[in-house]
Amino acid sequence: MSVTQQQVLDALAKVASPRGVALTNANVLSAITATDGKVFFSINVDAAEARAWESVRAQAEAAVRAIPGVSVAMIALTAERKPGAAPPPPPQPHRHTHGVQPVSAHKPPQSPASPMSKQAEIPGVAAVIAVASGKGGVGKSTTALNLALGLRDLGLRVGLLDADIYGPSVPRLTGIHEKPKLNDDRKMIPIERFGLAIMSIGFLVEEETAMIWRGPMVMSAITQMLRDVAWGTLDILVVDMPPGTGDAQLTLAQNVPLKGAVIISTPQDLSLIDARRGLAMFKKVNVPVLGIVENMSYFQCPHCGTRSDIFGHGGARHEAERLGVPFLGEIPLHMSIRTTSDSGNPVVASEPDGPHAAIYREIGTKVRDQLQGANAAA
Ligand code: ADP
Repeated sequence: MSVTQQQVLDALAKVASPRGVALTNANVLSAITATDGKVFFSINVDAAEARAWESVRAQAEAAVRAIPGVSVAMIALTAERKPGAAPPPPPQPHRHTHGVQPVSAHKPPQSPASPMSKQAEIPGVAAVIAVASGKGGVGKSTTALNLALGLRDLGLRVGLLDADIYGPSVPRLTGIHEKPKLNDDRKMIPIERFGLAIMSIGFLVEEETAMIWRGPMVMSAITQMLRDVAWGTLDILVVDMPPGTGDAQLTLAQNVPLKGAVIISTPQDLSLIDARRGLAMFKKVNVPVLGIVENMSYFQCPHCGTRSDIFGHGGARHEAERLGVPFLGEIPLHMSIRTTSDSGNPVVASEPDGPHAAIYREIGTKVRDQLQGANAAA
């Protein structure tokens, strides 16, 4: 049964805004996407009013979910500050201004000044780590997926969240094209593939739809994918971040309860500069950088295996040393990494005994050891 935009509007007309008028007359709704029973839109309000709107968002979501035929309703509350306006008050512990569901109450309240105060643990998930890069095209997603598989090979229970909402590539890299189902609590069940629990916005919307999402909506959608997904019990949830170090990434790094971040860089100077920005960004929000991975580090001939350092080599290692950040490893530029990724059969799964799988496992081992070290220190 297909759901129409008009049905969604009819349902929203019955929800009252804090100003008393119907939500549909409050001039706050974005365009509404309703495809295959999946409904997405945002409520765009001034940051100063965001708190008053949170219950409206929840009511709107409930109203949309009640429409027969709706399987997913993702409604984001986006709070934008007017130019020149004072920043919104810091969120109260356990309260969110971004359309986030209330979170578990067992976390002690933290100082509102701390960026961590916005974060909340995900029940059942022991550690969330980000895989980030200063810019696109450096192999971040390929590395995130193969690193997740490397961690799986260490006997850990691992999930992968593709938060690269501007261009989700996990559907292509994993060959997953099915839509997640809902459990009895109406949470999305991640797709199990290669022994990983996998979720991507690309499973829910067409790539073009994902591309037009505006900054604040990105955060809300990602937060919902973290919390409205039945992740189950995981040792590590790997989050494939959107590329770059702009505001969207900063907000994400601030709002996702990260135990650490892995930065992917290629050897060229330019991307090393970008990697430095990534380090600075995570430092700003007190997320420990677990290390730098140099991807496409050297060219390995697919025929004879000869190594050529065509980009100049060792840049990321030196940079990591200089910055006092661990260096996690070098991944060659190799045809089979590209072909396996692009055919939905990542190299660690398709060639588990090959040299590349071993490299990703080694990187995974360093990441795991660091997380364990951090736990022990805590
Ligand atoms: P990003 O997430 O940084 O945009 P992707 O992971 O999508 O980058 O990778 C971009 C392209 O580079 C893809 O075609 C991918 O298969 C390829 N690629 C990534 N890493 C390697 C590698 N080590 N060797 C060969 N090709 C690679």
